[in-house]
Amino acid sequence: METPKDLVGLGRDELAAEMKAMGAEPFRARQLWHWIYNRGVTDTALMTTLSKSFRAELAQRYRVGRPGVARALTSVDGTRKWLLRFDDGQEAECVHIPEEDRGTLCVSSQVGCTLTCKFCHTGTQRLVRNLSAAEIVGQVMLARDALGEWPSPQDDRQLTNIVLMGMGEPLYNYDNVAKALKIVMDGEGLSLSRRKITLSTSGVVPMIGRCGAELGVNLAISLHAVTDELRDVLVPLNKKYPLAELLDACRSYPGSSNARRITFEYVMLKGVNDSPAEARALVRLLAGIPAKVNLIPFNPWPGAPFERSSETSIKAFSDIVNAAGYSSPVRTPRGEDIMAACGQLKSDSVKRRKSDLLKEPATAPV
Ligand code: SAH
Ligand code: SF4
Repeated sequence: METPKDLVGLGRDELAAEMKAMGAEPFRARQLWHWIYNRGVTDTALMTTLSKSFRAELAQRYRVGRPGVARALTSVDGTRKWLLRFDDGQEAECVHIPEEDRGTLCVSSQVGCTLTCKFCHTGTQRLVRNLSAAEIVGQVMLARDALGEWPSPQDDRQLTNIVLMGMGEPLYNYDNVAKALKIVMDGEGLSLSRRKITLSTSGVVPMIGRCGAELGVNLAISLHAVTDELRDVLVPLNKKYPLAELLDACRSYPGSSNARRITFEYVMLKGVNDSPAEARALVRLLAGIPAKVNLIPFNPWPGAPFERSSETSIKAFSDIVNAAGYSSPVRTPRGEDIMAACGQLKSDSVKRRKSDLLKEPATAPV
């Protein structure tokens, strides 16, 4: 039997069109939207504002889906990672990072990534495909399920922020990412403000302006080097869109201001990009951009050709950037014991031997 069509991931217009095709009144689409995205209900039988016969008809034609979970791990620091398995068997990862005053969900946009940044585990994965809008929104809904956050609460949320910093390059899958984020930002549904959403890109220059104008989310740029020579090696996309073009796109990013700064991510690689001279060059590069810098100590993965910079050199780098007036916090690695930290995501569970799985520390199935 064919799997019924998933209602999750349909935009408001599409949902309205489905209801129209069923001969339902237009306000049904709005009610359904509320049940799906505000209440988190997956069983149409429980949608009690709809008539029984209508619920039965919905159940026949549609489903309200979630991504499958192949594995769920919890770190000693409370970070949770879900290895998602989609209908075609492809996998991606999603991570929830609880902090004192907020909780951030790190969402994937692709299975794997076609870009091959030298320090990134995801970039070594062979299989790549775009995630659909349903698979992207589904990550947020799955996290809400796991955190027990339905109906969409306004206060005291454990899921307050979203970062598109999981697997994949979101601006290479712009249409689906945009569709998913519009659903996530809808005030009658999941209701997360664009100010709480950050999209990270390795520098797909032609899409940056559109992202700002259409979505208005916060922008993060994976910079990692201050010369084209080094960035060409670390982030090969730089050969296509070199630093000058990338920084120009940042200068004209719609909506950026001193109150809403662009984040520049900078992975600290020992002896590669972590000298005081590079910190000073970074400050010069950022002139004229409302910026903040996020220093990410390199997170190792099996076979990685880099080492993490020493604490002393990270501190010295950060001090120089700070002294120039840019905030430059060092990102504390989270969920390292479950390989959930930045750049450690890779969905290769199929290839892993059982003996490896048994060795894994701190696992706690949900
Ligand atoms: N593809 C997008 C989104 C991924 S974001 C991008 O590259 O921006 C993940 C962030 O973690 C990026 O800044 C990425 O460069 C960084 N990163 C990748 N591998 C890392 C590693 N091993 N250690 C620390 N940070 C890493
Ligand atoms: Fe892809 Fe980002 Fe990893 Fe580069 S850092 S390979 S763009 S996921």
